Amino acid sequence: MNNTHSETFYNRYIVENAKQHLGIDMMRFLMFKEGKFINPMKKNEILQQYIKEELDNFYNKKLLNIPEIEFCITTKCTLQCKDCCALIPQLDKTKRSEMNFSDFKLYFDKFSAAVDTIRLLVMIGGEPLMNPELPQMLEYAAENNKIDFIKIITNGTMLPNSNLLNTLKKYNKKIYLYISNYSCNPELKNLIKHEKLLELLDENQIKHQKVDEWVWLEEHGFSKAAFPENITKDKFKNCFRTKCTQIINGKLDICSKATAGRELNMFEDDSIDIINTTNLRNDLIEFYSKEYLKACEYCILCDTKVSPALQINNK
Ligand code: SF4
Ligand code: SF4
Repeated sequence: MNNTHSETFYNRYIVENAKQHLGIDMMRFLMFKEGKFINPMKKNEILQQYIKEELDNFYNKKLLNIPEIEFCITTKCTLQCKDCCALIPQLDKTKRSEMNFSDFKLYFDKFSAAVDTIRLLVMIGGEPLMNPELPQMLEYAAENNKIDFIKIITNGTMLPNSNLLNTLKKYNKKIYLYISNYSCNPELKNLIKHEKLLELLDENQIKHQKVDEWVWLEEHGFSKAAFPENITKDKFKNCFRTKCTQIINGKLDICSKATAGRELNMFEDDSIDIINTTNLRNDLIEFYSKEYLKACEYCILCDTKVSPALQINNK
């Protein structure tokens, strides 16, 4: 095995793929009643085995597996959260975009052709249920054998229409809904529709996870000047959002905050242009080898805890 890549590539690509592989195995059993039960006491042992497999996949079998990729299919949202980590409320409302099916297909085809497996595909916004073409996108992605699982992240303020319910039901072995639960925030009492949403999902045998969010971190956007390199590297190493790589409007960014900063011209654009690049596969390998991205140089991370989903203008 000729292992020529850096420690960063090993951690960001090899280990992340192995962790996602393990996470998916566990979810398959717990949520979908498929596969084998994994004894939590044996998690580390299995992870080491998956790391070995992933090294073999990449260096010997020449496979490129993507641990997780998000498609941001709309920057429209039903909420206006002050501390939105995607800075959605800061994007000019007139410039908020919605991906249509034909663009989704274009980006998805280009991306999936360049890789061998996508362990987790995430449909995200904004609020993805606002996009009327979501069912078509799900159908198209779910039919692709390179995709292991599809997760839709919703804020629980919308109900799926019958078209979406039918698609979710049809692919209920591959797609699940992740519902962020902000109900500890009293100002959202009249907007959150969990009860009805869960009823609909259960009635249609659609898998879901409702995740309580009690605490968020204050969001401070970007600094005007770049932070020194040692601080940036540390931020990047400790930032969980480095896993939230996303595609929007044909470009791939390290996370949704980076997308917003790029669109607001806060720093130089170092996103991958997935449509115009001549070698997306190589670009992705380089991407996973980077110790930080341009956005991270300017990104302000704050550890002050705040209530989740506090709204701007009492909306
Ligand atoms: S619900 Fe999510 S995407 Fe919408 S504004 Fe709040 S944090 Fe941002
Ligand atoms: S820009 Fe970089 S440091 Fe900031 S949240 Fe995104 S990945 Fe983390």
